[in-house]
Amino acid sequence: MATNKNAWKKKITERIPRLLSSNSYITLIDLFIDMQWIERRHFYNWKDGLHQTLDENFNFSDKKQVEALAIFEKQMEGHKSIDIPWHEHSLLRGECLLRVSAHDSREALYQRYYFANDLTDRKRKSIEKKLTAEPSPRIFLKVGKDTECEMCETPIFKGDFFYLDIQKPYCMKCLNLNHLSFLPSGDATLSRRAREFSESFAEVVEWSRRGRYERRGILVDEAAIEKAEASNLQDAEKRKVGREKGKQRQIKIDVKHTEEFQKTILDIFPSCPRNEVASIAFHATVRSSGRVGRTAAAKKLDNKMIRLAVIAYIRHKHTDYDELLSHGFSKDIARKKIQGAVQEKLKSWEMTLDGYNSLA
Ligand SMILES: [Zn+2]
Repeated sequence: MATNKNAWKKKITERIPRLLSSNSYITLIDLFIDMQWIERRHFYNWKDGLHQTLDENFNFSDKKQVEALAIFEKQMEGHKSIDIPWHEHSLLRGECLLRVSAHDSREALYQRYYFANDLTDRKRKSIEKKLTAEPSPRIFLKVGKDTECEMCETPIFKGDFFYLDIQKPYCMKCLNLNHLSFLPSGDATLSRRAREFSESFAEVVEWSRRGRYERRGILVDEAAIEKAEASNLQDAEKRKVGREKGKQRQIKIDVKHTEEFQKTILDIFPSCPRNEVASIAFHATVRSSGRVGRTAAAKKLDNKMIRLAVIAYIRHKHTDYDELLSHGFSKDIARKKIQGAVQEKLKSWEMTLDGYNSLA
């Protein structure tokens, strides 16, 4: 029982580094959302001014909260951090400070953003700048039932833009935003420029099936879009060349990596036929494939990882593995059944037989 009751402690200590490496920084709220201790909709409603404190909606005990805070604080020792009070900018109520907890000492920890240790100072500063910037207003795309503006009672239909404040919908006209034009997401440079050129700006989001708001585009001055399109046209060629250069650089890196991979395979398996070496290296190192060959360890050409790539290849090319899977055997059982054949092949490739290699 005792181990089960405390399983969450182990879980949070494992989640922290994962969140840190994917986001470069972490707050307690990120952790609690990731642990599914706070529902995202409660978090959004709180930001929207519906709740006094966020912890009213925590679905775990106060005791657990205190323990979790202590574990988090201890684990983050030695990480650089910045304190930023939770705040929102309401188009109707102005700047609003938010509180996660009514306890001051806890609130201090809830406001702390801890950074990953491997960030450069420059990267950290740029994240800090983003975090402390004034949040842009969020405009929603109406999904679901029609509603009406809280102020002027104009109907808000599906697909219309509207604003939410303490769960009440408002139309664009009442917020003096109806002069803005919508620029859908898709061209990052165009969006960035339009935003820079525009006097007013709002982000357009839509509630997605994944249980979160997703950005659909921005609302900016029409003139800003035109100006951004003009500058995009002006340096389109330059940007294209830049992208092409980046691609070429990456191809060079990939080719070099694949060559090194082949060399290391031959070091370990000198009798592996050359065409098969090329196949293994190619399949294992294809970009973004998530195959063993692209993991950090394989990039450093760790012998064990190379071996795994070779085994994966043998399984598919020299055994009945795929057939067994298609007949409904589980991966584990199929792997056991072909283990002997795989070992035999590995052994034969490990032997140095000079003549055998010269075929390729
Ligand atoms: Zn209205």
